[in-house]
Amino acid sequence: MSAPELPNANTRRLRAIHRRLVKRFGELAPPRASDPLDELVLTVLSQHTSDRNAERTFASLRTAYPTWGGVVAARAVDIADVIRGGGLANTKAPRIQQILREVAEREGGDYSLDRLRVMSDADARAYLTSLPGIGPKTAAVVLSFALGRDAMPVDTHVHRVTRRLGIVPDKTSAERADRLLHDLVPDGLRTPLHVAFIRLGRDICKAPIPRCIVCPLRDLCPTAPRYLGDRGGRTQSG
Ligand code: SF4
Repeated sequence: MSAPELPNANTRRLRAIHRRLVKRFGELAPPRASDPLDELVLTVLSQHTSDRNAERTFASLRTAYPTWGGVVAARAVDIADVIRGGGLANTKAPRIQQILREVAEREGGDYSLDRLRVMSDADARAYLTSLPGIGPKTAAVVLSFALGRDAMPVDTHVHRVTRRLGIVPDKTSAERADRLLHDLVPDGLRTPLHVAFIRLGRDICKAPIPRCIVCPLRDLCPTAPRYLGDRGGRTQSG
C-alpha cells in the first residue's frame, strides 16, 4: 500500500490561513442558499452595486413580474425601469431577458436550472459560462451559494486579498486568479475561504490601505512589512 500523499507547502499555508480566519470570524458559511436561476439573476443584478441594493432590486423585479416568462415577455425598457435602483439597468434588463430565453430554450420551455443539481461541477460550470454574459465569477457564485458546490467566486475582495497574501501573483487578472485559486485551494475550503476573504477584505484588508496591525494573518503575509515597518511580528500559531 502506498503512503498517503503529504500536503505541500501551499496547501499547509492555505489551511493555516483558513484556521486563523475561522478563529477570527467564526463559522464561514456562504451568505445564502437559493434556487439556482434566482441566484443567477440576483448575481447579474449585483454587478456594480451592493448586495443589499441587488436584493432590493431583485425583490422589486419579482413583485412586478412574478414569473420569469413575464420578464421575458415584457419590454426591456419596462424591466429597466423596475431595476433602475441597482444601476446599469439598461444593460442588465436585456441581459437578464437573454439569459432567461436561453435557459428556457435549453430546458424545454422551463425557466429552471434544477438540471444543474445532477451535473458534475465541471459540466455545471460549463453550462453557466456558456449563457450570455456569464463569466467565471457569476458561475462560481451559483455553484457555491445555490448548488452547494466547492467553488470560490473571485470578487474584488478575494482578488485583492489573495494577491496581497501572495497566494496568486500580484499582477494576476481576476479571471486568471479564478483558475489558479480553483487549482491551489484544497477541496472543501473554496467556499469557506471565499467567505473568509470577503470578511477580511471588507473589515481589515481594505482597499487602498490594509489594517495589517489588526490582521490575524500578518505573520503569514508578504505584504504586511510594507505597511507595518517595525510593528510586525507573530500573531498566533498556526
Ligand atoms: S497582513 Fe495586511 S496586507 Fe496582508 S492580508 Fe492582512 S491586512 Fe491584508
